[in-house]
Amino acid sequence: MRKPLMAGNWKMYKNAGETAAFFDTFRPAVEKTAGRDIVLCPVFVNIPAAVAATAGSNIGIGGQNLYWVREGAFTGEVAAPMLKAAGCSWVLVGHSERRQYFGETDESVLKKTVAALEAGLNPIVCVGERLQEREAGETAAVLQSQFTGGIAGLTPQQFAGVVIAYEPVWAIGTGKTATPEIASDAHKVIRQAVAAAFGAEAASAVRILYGGSVKPDNTATLMAKEDIDGVLVGGASLDPKSFAAIVNY
Ligand code: PEP
Repeated sequence: MRKPLMAGNWKMYKNAGETAAFFDTFRPAVEKTAGRDIVLCPVFVNIPAAVAATAGSNIGIGGQNLYWVREGAFTGEVAAPMLKAAGCSWVLVGHSERRQYFGETDESVLKKTVAALEAGLNPIVCVGERLQEREAGETAAVLQSQFTGGIAGLTPQQFAGVVIAYEPVWAIGTGKTATPEIASDAHKVIRQAVAAAFGAEAASAVRILYGGSVKPDNTATLMAKEDIDGVLVGGASLDPKSFAAIVNY
């Protein structure tokens, strides 16, 4: 049985005060929620505020990115052990906005995933096709290639610590949610790729999240699909009531 994971990605929104205010409302709304993992990923500078606001709770905090070197002359970067020391237990890797605007590649995704695991963080590795790739019938090939070029390079032991997020780029921030069937088909493709690389047991154990315009009113139908093990939420995770409704779907 895979434990549902409900994760929020705040992208480049909220300051420290807004971060603390979010948890004033959100924390009591989920404190009785059991049987699922709850994660929020604020911007780097607000991680201390988020960690302080969630101390002793059932809410985990994650980074939105990391660099794979432990320390050094890499201006503007943040290393995995630094996120861990700041109180993070999770980190997003390879979000499509990182791939699109900041040159993230499958190769860097693999390096970052390994660095996260070595620091004791749980990486949530994002994959997903762009609209023109879907329209050209290339979705399965794109997902397979992102998987093969990226996390298929992990050892089976490393892979056991990874969560995958399927985020079709055309559904992110657009209000166009993939239908549960579209999402579920993509999750099956990913699970088959995992089975081919790491075996049937790993494929049935790995959690695959769906992300792309998830809202309180579409969460239950997405989560009803057997292959959808949780959600990665952008816009709707910024509002505490809305994200609590998603978590408590
Ligand atoms: C995201 O940023 O990962 C995302 C899925 O955004 P949204 O929910 O706003 O589409």
